[in-house]
Amino acid sequence: MTETRVHRTGSTPMCDREHRKRRAPRWALVCIFAMAAATVVTSAPAGANHGVDSIFPSANYQGGDSDCKEHSVSGVCLADSRWHTVYAVALGSKMQAATVFTLDLSYDTTDINVIYHSTSQVTYSGSWETDVIYSNSNSLPSNVWGRNRCDDDSPGGGKCDQFYVLYHADKFDAEIPNDTTLQRAIACQETGHTVGMLHGSNSDPSQADTSAAFRCMRTNPLAAVASMGPHNINQVNGQY
Ligand SMILES: [Zn+2]
Repeated sequence: MTETRVHRTGSTPMCDREHRKRRAPRWALVCIFAMAAATVVTSAPAGANHGVDSIFPSANYQGGDSDCKEHSVSGVCLADSRWHTVYAVALGSKMQAATVFTLDLSYDTTDINVIYHSTSQVTYSGSWETDVIYSNSNSLPSNVWGRNRCDDDSPGGGKCDQFYVLYHADKFDAEIPNDTTLQRAIACQETGHTVGMLHGSNSDPSQADTSAAFRCMRTNPLAAVASMGPHNINQVNGQY
């Protein structure tokens, strides 16, 4: 298999991870956003949604269970630190670009520090695992754009050692081959789940999944919003 790293001009690969113990990986499937059609957002979104907690754990997510659920079909977890190391495996040029777009222009502008791992740095075992592995999968259900799953919750405290983000490549090619905004929106939402960001209905108090304040985390239907907004940023910075 040909591996392709996520490129970012001028980035300096580095590794600065918290040391932690590890046990055998298990798989969990997370975040099915099963929207076939996009809704174009034409109005400016609301600002920070004060008083609404949209970061895992939440009373309205998994019944309030604060454990990171490796085996759950819906298992958003916290990242294990603000140092978010990432690697992409043969995404293709479009989703690689969309992923870099969201990492650089949304997540790396927050208190999260995005660190691109090179092919020689990517790590799948031990206590220094790469935090997010992005890849394509055509095994996802026909109505699913992407999934996020936790491979290893050994850090405890609701944190995940390594996430896998899967993109439904054939579906992208068939339905939104040139829709850069939706491609970015999906990359933004899946990445958001790797730092614990929840949908509106999973927030506390529960909000509409389509609430404009949720920006790229909007769902049911997925919104053509390519970036995080003030509420997302406020939530992430409060956590990390
Ligand atoms: Zn989602």
